[in-house]
Amino acid sequence: MNDFFQKVNSYIKDAIGASKYLLDGLSVTFDHLRRRPVTVQYPYEKLIPSERYRGRIHYEFDKCIACEVCVRVCPINLPVVDWVMNKETKKKELRNYSIDFGVCIFCGNCVEYCPTNCLSMTEEYELATFDRHNLNFDNVALGRLPTNVTTDPSVKALRELAYLPKGVMDPHEVSQSDPRAGKLPEEVLDWMISKNPEERNQQSSSK
Ligand code: SF4
Ligand code: SF4
Repeated sequence: MNDFFQKVNSYIKDAIGASKYLLDGLSVTFDHLRRRPVTVQYPYEKLIPSERYRGRIHYEFDKCIACEVCVRVCPINLPVVDWVMNKETKKKELRNYSIDFGVCIFCGNCVEYCPTNCLSMTEEYELATFDRHNLNFDNVALGRLPTNVTTDPSVKALRELAYLPKGVMDPHEVSQSDPRAGKLPEEVLDWMISKNPEERNQQSSSK
């Protein structure tokens, strides 16, 4: 009998937990009901990508040591590191480096693990082309400085939803000085450190 009540008790707990998750999901849906549709007049207007947006990869040829760590950590072994061994100096000589953005899944692993930080994710997302072979960027194309929505004088930069002041749903006519609802990455880091002091030790040891 006791076993029966335990099972009923656990069933009720599971049902309550499941309903909570359901209501959490529905709250997002209901939150959207009170929003009006917002049309961004692309390409005259563009939304500012979020700080951790993973766009086209930028590469610095001079910093690359041809270690091929980026190839090994890439889930599809995508970067092509073309090097030859200089027999006199017994050092690798880098000839070319390329990444095919037609295949890349923008996971950021290569950027994360590169020991010399010569790779970085940019906020560039306009990679459309008529020929997919043009998406295979060599070291010259990868080394081009990225375009930036906020510094491009030909477009009107609109703040993304996370950056809008609380309660504002339309990014048009929002002044740059209006406070944003979302926290800045530094503020998030401070909050994480205040919650978990061990994080502070990890931060200081990694410097
Ligand atoms: S991990 Fe970095 S340094 Fe090593 S080959 Fe790749 S880009 Fe070059
Ligand atoms: S972002 Fe990911 S998929 Fe693209 S090259 Fe780097 S590791 Fe490979």
